[in-house]
Amino acid sequence: MSTRFFGRTAAAKSTAGSAATSKPQPGMASERTRQRMVERLQQLGVTHPIVLQAMRAVPRHLFVDEGFASRAYEDTALPIAQGQTISQPYVVARMIELVKPAGIDAARAPADKVLEIGTGCGYQAAVLSKVFAEVYSIERIRGLHEVARNNLRPLRIPNIRLAFGDGMLGLPQVAPFDAIIVAAAGLELPQALLDQLCVGGRLIAPVGDAEQYLLLVERTGPAQWQQKRLDAVRFVPLLAGTS
Ligand code: SAH
Repeated sequence: MSTRFFGRTAAAKSTAGSAATSKPQPGMASERTRQRMVERLQQLGVTHPIVLQAMRAVPRHLFVDEGFASRAYEDTALPIAQGQTISQPYVVARMIELVKPAGIDAARAPADKVLEIGTGCGYQAAVLSKVFAEVYSIERIRGLHEVARNNLRPLRIPNIRLAFGDGMLGLPQVAPFDAIIVAAAGLELPQALLDQLCVGGRLIAPVGDAEQYLLLVERTGPAQWQQKRLDAVRFVPLLAGTS
């Protein structure tokens, strides 16, 4: 039941020779392939400049196992530790675009707070950090929570906070959230997450079992939510408890 915070990822010291520094560093080659990935996202219909810029900025190759680094900018989900996956770039961009902050087009930076359920390797959290003011991300597998911390540390992102715990319970101590993104598919949406949305806030989640689709929910009042069924998708299952 307990949820433990590990504070700002940037606060942890990064030392030479750590696992993170032995991975390939972001370079010109990865910038070019990332640009091609972003062009493909545009062809698929992702339009918001800040979302596209966030996808261009985050070095996805640092979040996949070394054996898959050469495929990091293919628009496909890839395996990560513990039988889980790093989400497909298009799906990451699409979900963020659907819940992006209302003030994203204003000159001042939006103050919005987002909660991600299912940190996995930490990739989507890094992308979210370029779009939202504050990112909270929760993972139920301790080993992956640690992997995400190690992956994010060298990027020194100040506005991500990682938590270990059951994301189906949300993070009541920091709720409400302007946006919630669920990165694993449940048979239904946990009521705790719906309750932790601000009025006017939006949640996007894959729902289903063998057949899954994205469900977009907007909280329209203290006890009112409107939902819309969108694209067919394929996600790992949302599971209760921790491991
Ligand atoms: N966000 C990741 C995708 C991770 S895959 C990315 O950037 O690519 C989905 C993750 O959700 C898995 O790591 C899985 O362990 C986690 N998960 C499943 N059920 C969960 C729950 N109840 N609480 C928190 N994490 C959960």
